[in-house]
Amino acid sequence: MTKNQDLITVEDYKQFVGPEKIEQLYQKSSRLQDLHVVNINSTYYGGGVAELLSSLCILFNDLGIKTGWRIIQGSPDFFSITKKMHNALQGDEINLSDRKKEIYESVIHENAVRNHLDHDMVIIHDPQPLPMIEHYRKRGPWTWRCHIDITNRNKELWEYLKQYIEKYDAVILTLEEYKQDLRTPQLFFEPAIDPFSIKNKDLTEKEMDERFEHHKIPNDLPIIAQVSRFDRWKDPEGVIRAFREARKEVPATLVLLGNVATDDPEGNEVYESLLDCQEERIIILSQQDSALVNAIQRRAAVIVQKSLREGFGLTVAEAMWKGTPVIGGNVGGIRRQIKDGENGFLVSSVEETTERMVQLIKDENLRREMGRKARKSVEQKYLLVHYLEKYLDLFGSFSTNFSIQNYF
Ligand code: UDP
Repeated sequence: MTKNQDLITVEDYKQFVGPEKIEQLYQKSSRLQDLHVVNINSTYYGGGVAELLSSLCILFNDLGIKTGWRIIQGSPDFFSITKKMHNALQGDEINLSDRKKEIYESVIHENAVRNHLDHDMVIIHDPQPLPMIEHYRKRGPWTWRCHIDITNRNKELWEYLKQYIEKYDAVILTLEEYKQDLRTPQLFFEPAIDPFSIKNKDLTEKEMDERFEHHKIPNDLPIIAQVSRFDRWKDPEGVIRAFREARKEVPATLVLLGNVATDDPEGNEVYESLLDCQEERIIILSQQDSALVNAIQRRAAVIVQKSLREGFGLTVAEAMWKGTPVIGGNVGGIRRQIKDGENGFLVSSVEETTERMVQLIKDENLRREMGRKARKSVEQKYLLVHYLEKYLDLFGSFSTNFSIQNYF
């Protein structure tokens, strides 16, 4: 295949990570040339997994590793069940009836029939396509990449899913604290962002103005914003309550920008439930517009990500990369990214969120200083080449019988 000049290459990251890191990546990938890899998940857009895969697959191909990305298809009731599973893995109850299992298993069986997987490596993302492994004779190692915070997982559901999980050759979780009692080896990869994407690249003031005008977002007062899928675990209501208190002390505009992923049937309901809260200074937008995400994360005085559970929270890294201070829920991956009081604030209640909103809006120097440190920490840890390298190490450590050797 010819090289496309417009696509981002590993080399483009040199300016951020230096030539040695790039050289290391070439070396690590040299043994993996022409490997054929496939990723499977359940949505092309909306949510962190799609965000990661769209950029990551291009970089793998740049390194000579033939990497593809496929999506499973399912009926609305399938996605309603898998969303319930997602919620239960984050701690909700679930009525795991035989009917639910039957739909889940048969839709995945159909997908397995449609997808002919004879790749050297198969990477399955999250619980939706997990049982696909049942239906193939493996030609290479299969990895299950779970992006969810499973520390409070529902036990009954976990026991049911475990029959599939333990058929995999490796499990990748986001943080070590998500580790489970499994026969399968577990690895821990923290995700990362693509600094060149429309969502993260530099924008001029004019480009930002244009996005704000297009969506009729007022620019006259400091902006506090949360950019997130409409999902109750992201606690948009808590953000609105915190903002209502904060604005008694500081004038500001709140923007909640969200989208709805195709594999998330609850999204619209959550969005609609918030609409009554709209007013002149509380703007709630459901849009799929990456440049708008960029403009808001860049221009906001404060970004909030008040999640109650969060596997990682790419939105946090995205805002930090733009030098914007983030107030994040003290959970999961957010607390790995934010060092409280240094490069952002961690909060555990609406009251704390209000307090930090007021403090940051009042103190421009603090915002600038936190933003500067935030950007630095993303540069050091959370750019996509770091994530890519972990996969290269994993691929390089699979032995001929698909077990992992020399990785740990
Ligand atoms: N996102 C977006 N538009 C929106 C809201 C979110 O493009 O209106 C993106 C966001 O920028 C991020 C991803 O969706 O890249 C969300 O990933 P995250 O890890 O924060 O959460 P998830 O949705 O996977 O739970």
